Amino acid sequence: MSNEIIKGPGWILTKLEWLINWGRKRSPWPLPYGTACCGIEMMAALASGYDMARFGAERPSFSPRQADVLIEAGTITKKMVPILRRIYDQMAEPKWVIAMGACACTGGVFRTYSTLQGIDQVIPVDVYVPGCPPRPEGLIYALMKIIEKIEKDHPLYNKAKEFERSERGCACS
Ligand code: SF4
Repeated sequence: MSNEIIKGPGWILTKLEWLINWGRKRSPWPLPYGTACCGIEMMAALASGYDMARFGAERPSFSPRQADVLIEAGTITKKMVPILRRIYDQMAEPKWVIAMGACACTGGVFRTYSTLQGIDQVIPVDVYVPGCPPRPEGLIYALMKIIEKIEKDHPLYNKAKEFERSERGCACS
């Protein structure tokens, strides 16, 4: 197939992407990685009172290979960094990350030599949830933001561009 066909996101590509994104946004399976007090708020958000099932996210996965959204809730010590990184690497693409709470976002009150001052130093973060601790509604809002991101994604078009770049053998965009 000629590259000319995939120059822009045409009608078929757009509709296919809409369908793919619809499926992805209806099943953002979370991987709960609770390390401290924020983890309790995350558990509350996953419980029946807040009903994350309405977003298709009622199935927490403890296997990185079967999860789409890593929810890191709580303090990360520098000892935990290799584990956090390995979990992130083992998650299949596409994947998203929520940093829940001041500790996950910035180290919070723990400005100490042993605490990581924000998980974005080791893994990319899509949505930050401020607060110490944030309420479950904060996490639900973050999940809604992830869903918005998924809706705006162009998986096929991006793949086509990637293919085009590899064919040309250049690293340009
Ligand atoms: S942000 Fe506050 S509530 Fe959350 S883990 Fe840190 S100290 Fe605990």
